[in-house]
Amino acid sequence: MSISRRKFLGWVGAAGLSTTFGKPASAATNQHFAGYPDSFAILHDTTLCVGCRSCEAACNKVNDLPQPDTPFTDLSVLETSRRTTTKAFTVVNKYDRPEKSGPPVFYKKQCNHCLEPACASACFVRAFTKTKTGAVVYDASVCVGCRYCMIACPFEIPTYEYDQALTPRIRKCTMCHPRVIEGKLPGCVEACPMEALSFGKREDMIKIARERFRKYPDRYVNHIYGEHEMGGTSWLYVSGAPFKELGMREDLGIKPAPELTAGALSSVPIIVGLWPVLLAGIYAVSKRKEKIAQTEQEQAVASVLDTDRSEPSQPEEES
Ligand code: SF4
Ligand code: SF4
Ligand code: SF4
Repeated sequence: MSISRRKFLGWVGAAGLSTTFGKPASAATNQHFAGYPDSFAILHDTTLCVGCRSCEAACNKVNDLPQPDTPFTDLSVLETSRRTTTKAFTVVNKYDRPEKSGPPVFYKKQCNHCLEPACASACFVRAFTKTKTGAVVYDASVCVGCRYCMIACPFEIPTYEYDQALTPRIRKCTMCHPRVIEGKLPGCVEACPMEALSFGKREDMIKIARERFRKYPDRYVNHIYGEHEMGGTSWLYVSGAPFKELGMREDLGIKPAPELTAGALSSVPIIVGLWPVLLAGIYAVSKRKEKIAQTEQEQAVASVLDTDRSEPSQPEEES
């Protein structure tokens, strides 16, 4: 990592953020939001990445995720393009350059922590919050499982625990918000042996990227992916190959998602008015069903207990 821990802690203190990180402010409105000043970002320099998967292993550890079937030391998984899952908040994929025009490029994928997150603007119960650290955090306790965030995300990131019948959650990279507010580096940044991941203030990450372009113009495409895409993101990328060769969308434009959503939805005002009402109705019905089921279950248990108490136990039949 190119940003030292001491320097990072200095920034936290200087910005006066350490005491405010725990009080997230919602950024999910339809007004343009240029990002919190002093918020953090992670820069992935794909020219330094060797596809070792140490970041994947670290992410698994700090998030207490189940061990994968294939160990992190097995690099054969790089031959297949992977998506993030409920059990892998980040994956590294390998991209061969066309006609062997250069060495393969490794690109680490996870939630980009948009400055104006589409997931947050699509969520009517406000389960997502853009915090002052830069992280977009999710609150499972208010989520109703509508999965609109999954549809809204232009990067196809949120995943849903379909296998959890009782308490399914949306799962994604947290930008290690719990660690950052404790003054620690994100797990993946700390683990990267190649310093391909740098963590610090977003504006400084952009300066570092530009400085690398200036110093090594032949090594990079002159574009910081995430500086402006979809209004900007808190994960930033630099590369020696065009980003579309890495499967990254270059058609997103620079308008933030809430602005786009507002424009699209304002042409169908009935949806704006009724959609939250309908979803709230579905939620209320399902909650009522749960309540009825719980009451019925309690009554059934009480009735069995009553029966047990009133009926003397039968003696075992003699054989
Ligand atoms: S740990 Fe660093 S070098 Fe290894 S795959 Fe992740 S980003 Fe690339
Ligand atoms: S990448 Fe997707 S899930 Fe992550 S903050 Fe942006 S819209 Fe939300
Ligand atoms: S920032 Fe944290 S949660 Fe996100 S990929 Fe890195 S280790 Fe995983």
